[in-house]
Amino acid sequence: MLEESHCIIKAAGSDLFGVDGIGTAFAGTQAVLQQVIDTLPQNVFWKDKNLVYRGCNQTFAEVAGRSKPDELVGLTDFDLPWNTEEAEFFRQCDRKVMESGVPLLGIIETQVNADGKQTWLETNKVPLRNAEGQVLGVLGTFIDITEIKQVKDDLEKINQELELRVQQRTKQLQFAADHDGLTGLLNRSSFVKKLNDINDACEPKSIALLFIDLDNFKPINDTEGHEAGDKVLVQLANVLRKTSGPDDFAARLGGDEFLLLLQNRSEDQLHSILEQIHRSVIYQAEVCNFPCRLTASIGVVNCSPGDYECSEDLIKDADVAMYAAKSQGKNSFCFYSDNLRQSSENGLKLESALFAGISQDQFLVHFQPIVDSSADRIVGFEALARWQHPEKGLLFPSCFVSPAEANGAIVPLGKKIFDLACAQTAQWFERFPQLYENFRTNINVSARQLFEEDFLQTICDITAKYGVDNRNIGIEITESVMLRDQVQAISVLQEMRDAGFHIALDDFGTGFSSLSYVDDLPLNAIKIDRSFISKLGRDAADYAIVRMILALAKTLDISAIAEGVENPFQLERLNAMGCHLLQGYHYSSPLPAEEATSYLAQGSPVSDLAMVPGVPPTS
Ligand code: C2E
Ligand code: CA
Ligand code: CA
Repeated sequence: MLEESHCIIKAAGSDLFGVDGIGTAFAGTQAVLQQVIDTLPQNVFWKDKNLVYRGCNQTFAEVAGRSKPDELVGLTDFDLPWNTEEAEFFRQCDRKVMESGVPLLGIIETQVNADGKQTWLETNKVPLRNAEGQVLGVLGTFIDITEIKQVKDDLEKINQELELRVQQRTKQLQFAADHDGLTGLLNRSSFVKKLNDINDACEPKSIALLFIDLDNFKPINDTEGHEAGDKVLVQLANVLRKTSGPDDFAARLGGDEFLLLLQNRSEDQLHSILEQIHRSVIYQAEVCNFPCRLTASIGVVNCSPGDYECSEDLIKDADVAMYAAKSQGKNSFCFYSDNLRQSSENGLKLESALFAGISQDQFLVHFQPIVDSSADRIVGFEALARWQHPEKGLLFPSCFVSPAEANGAIVPLGKKIFDLACAQTAQWFERFPQLYENFRTNINVSARQLFEEDFLQTICDITAKYGVDNRNIGIEITESVMLRDQVQAISVLQEMRDAGFHIALDDFGTGFSSLSYVDDLPLNAIKIDRSFISKLGRDAADYAIVRMILALAKTLDISAIAEGVENPFQLERLNAMGCHLLQGYHYSSPLPAEEATSYLAQGSPVSDLAMVPGVPPTS
């Protein structure tokens, strides 16, 4: 097709580029033809075999710096205003067309015009032939595409810029999708993807997965503010980055939980990294002057790629090891082992047994009297949960309360215990109406229950169901409620107190920085932990602590109950210090409901019942 598009020009019976050239060839039609050519918007020119211009239209003549087409005749490109390279390029194109006999179409070229303007041209060059098909010269036409080219170039630039921006934004979005916004570490899903790749590769190397969880982060976040909390998390992320080699990677799972995958580390290296993480967390808390210790619990799984079919299982095992580290007393690490796997499976079994036990009414309550030694009166009972296990017999709270708190069973279990304790209290009031004014059943409530949204409503519904006045129910909480959310804890407790419940702070003196917040809590009583009572007379320091707690209670105008009073000596010491509200084996161990009722029926506390049935293991 292209080969066809050449020109055969015949005029007045002779070749256009014959011996006489264009001047004579046009004869009568030349003037007309010239006019036609002059009106074309394109530049038109033609050259003979020697690349000498033989004619052009007016437009081209002006571009070439001539006022008329005639002035171009006889000149070559080297006589025109274009520079030598341009002229040389034109010559080469012309030669190519003439030698090959094939047109050159759409040549994009530059040309400096007579007025000095640099222009961009789109040129077509076709061979001119005579009637016999011989190539006589070349016909060129071109249009000035400078403006179009400019627009195109601009568009291209804009396009490139847009593309760059899209690429950058895509990168940013991809980063945001794969990383944690606060620390810039990987997020869970991208960490799992990387872990999958390593697992799939099954290369013979060792990997260690560290599951890191901060201890006491929540109270620090609550008391020091979220900014301080965020700083802690960012710092920890930096520590993990620093400890990471090129093949390692870290992620933040959310909250204060982090993962670190280390590859090909020796045991010594691993231990030094664990130590480094522990040290840097403690150091940071010290630098920030936090009110309580900030530490980390770390669970470690040491394995080879391919040991785990599913990366999520690997993370789960590291999590189990981390919990084991926490239960070892925090600020420690624990390596995952088969034993741990076993105990985690046992934990799962216990969880389902707990829920089954709750729904099958296997739980019951024992009651331990609380005595006012100054009035020689029973002022109440503490309700203590027991599990009548179908195979294992009667189980004490040390076997099930912590796991129930961890797996959430404590919520329905606590409700059950509350219900049983209220039902029994209602029976006592019915049988001993004289008790009404001065008697209270204390029920233990876990932090997890307290923070349930409808907790207050739940317990109010239960007291209402049995017609028990809220004033006759004491709620025993431990300092752990303050570890979760201090502000919310105070507000929930205040609401409970407004509803009439009596609030007692249990195990006082064993928790963290007790004195710092006891003032803010809406309390009616503190229970002095039995660890201080048991050493009375043996340890001068404990003696001083008990004295101090009693003084604190007096200052706050709340009562103090001594727990774990086991013998007359302790009783006498406490009485001498002005502490008369007492609970412990000296009076009675926790009793099944019927025996508690008999105890109550005697009117005043008896001490010789102590150590009788079912003395629980010291926990
Ligand atoms: P706690 O609230 O400090 O309860 C007192 C524990 O001390 C009881 O153990 C009781 O049997 C034991 N005890 C009482 N007098 C003496 C004594 O003189 N000497 C010694 N060595 N121990 C004494 P128990 O019943 O095994 O309960 C253990 C813990 O389990 C309780 O400690 C309480 O924190 C928790 N618990 C018990 N029942 C419930 C419950 O219904 N809900 C929740 N959340 N926790 C409960
Ligand atoms: Ca208690
Ligand atoms: Ca206690």
